[in-house]
Amino acid sequence: MSTATLFIGGAWVPSSDGGTRAIHCPADGGFVGDVSEGTREDAERAIAAARKSFDSGEWASVPAPQRGDFLLRVAAELRVRKDEFAQAETLDTGKRLVESEIDMDDIADCFAYFGKLAGQDAGRMVDAGNNSVVSRIAYEPVGVCGLISPWNYPLLQSAWKIAPALGAGCSFILKPSELTPHTSILMMDLLDSLGLPKGVANLVLGAGAVVGAPLSEHPDVDMVSFTGGLETGKRIAAAASGTIKKVALELGGKNPNIVFADADFDAALDNALNAAFVHSGQVCSAGARLLVEEPIAERFVDELVRRAREIRLGGPFDEKAETGPLISAAHRDKVTAYVQKGLEEGARLRCGGTWGEGELEKGFYYTPTVLDQVTRGSSVLVDEAFGPVVTVETFNGEDEAVELGNDTQYGLAGAVWSQDAGKGQRVAARLRHGTIWINDFHPYLPQAEWGGFGHSGMGRELGPTGFAEYQEAKHIYHNIDPAVTGWFEARVQEESA
Ligand code: NAD
Repeated sequence: MSTATLFIGGAWVPSSDGGTRAIHCPADGGFVGDVSEGTREDAERAIAAARKSFDSGEWASVPAPQRGDFLLRVAAELRVRKDEFAQAETLDTGKRLVESEIDMDDIADCFAYFGKLAGQDAGRMVDAGNNSVVSRIAYEPVGVCGLISPWNYPLLQSAWKIAPALGAGCSFILKPSELTPHTSILMMDLLDSLGLPKGVANLVLGAGAVVGAPLSEHPDVDMVSFTGGLETGKRIAAAASGTIKKVALELGGKNPNIVFADADFDAALDNALNAAFVHSGQVCSAGARLLVEEPIAERFVDELVRRAREIRLGGPFDEKAETGPLISAAHRDKVTAYVQKGLEEGARLRCGGTWGEGELEKGFYYTPTVLDQVTRGSSVLVDEAFGPVVTVETFNGEDEAVELGNDTQYGLAGAVWSQDAGKGQRVAARLRHGTIWINDFHPYLPQAEWGGFGHSGMGRELGPTGFAEYQEAKHIYHNIDPAVTGWFEARVQEESA
């Protein structure tokens, strides 16, 4: 039987050349399933289906409150099917089941938030300063959207796009990472089961250069929203420029976690571990740069190293495991080379820097790694590792903390630890990053914008701004008392009179 896991125009279809890809769990290499490996032709068929559905107005003209209600039903159904979705996410990514369960709750919350927001959309009246004019802004769907997502939080990152796109009335083509397709397949099934008109949601699977690239190049796509690495983001922005489509980019980060000497030591230490090592550091907002104020630096880093050594690695269903594997052998090689280069550039290895041993050799494990005495400008301070690697720098005072915290091409997220609220607020105000936590790390809210300054991206996801990304604002100016302007002389009538 052929594998038919592309969802195009409301039908499950195989790839046009019958190609498939086998997915294996990164935790132990176990076979997860075969999925269709799409072709450029498949991507073009999906774009055509989305275009046809959008132009028909079948979804775009559904009143906003009903679109909002649909998203609320998606949220409810996700909660019912949570175990099935979490299991699939965990097998594709190798992350702990409990983390996938948290992701599924967050995804349901995301749909619920955008459901409520979409339902309230009534446009905006504008005072034209003239009683004869009714002026209003209508927020219309941007059109056909290409949604491209990464493998670290596969369905979560896609949901941040799908929910506002549907809420706004768009049709879309989803292109998840080729490494983690299964929750996207389940999501199409869920949307279809709730009666979303055919062609509104389409799914193409396969390599970025094959099925992703057409989404940024094709003239029938009005917007491309991408989450992934910086270099891919640049390629997508360049490809999209040919058709002047709207581009939203959520890229990487090199996020400073700034610990002042007056911080709550235990809370800062515990959160520094979370910041760097949750999901083995495969988090765009990971606290991969630890900046510690001199007076506590030695004690803080000694404790961090001691605790990092104790972190238990293991597979998704190992209840004692505290974090899991990297996504692939290629990614582990990348992290290994990155640490090696850092050491060659003068950094000192305090712990980690090795692959998992024994049972863990079946998967792509990398031990939690702390590097200190890192030379400023060294590649480990500049580039994103996207693995369980944290570098340590020290500073004295607010000015130096801010200077170091902003010394990055990225600007996604950062944290400030201090029991002096004024200091926390002052430093937060001076950091050029899209999210700043004070005395915390990692929480985000669906109602709060997420995104980056600098090379961390363009545009925002979540919050009202994340919804507006999927809309075009149209100004409708209605003169209810039309009159002759007299701008040009009415010469014809005068001459003939
Ligand atoms: P990636 O850039 O390699 O791939 C992301 C997606 O783009 C995949 O679906 C891939 O197939 C596709 N792609 C690759 N080449 C393409 C092309 N030429 N045209 C269109 N699509 C193409 O990233 P990744 O390794 O999957 O994810 C890790 C990166 O994602 C990290 O840099 C991380 O920081 C970033 N990320 C950012 C956020 C955020 O919110 N800012 C969230 C999660 C991940």
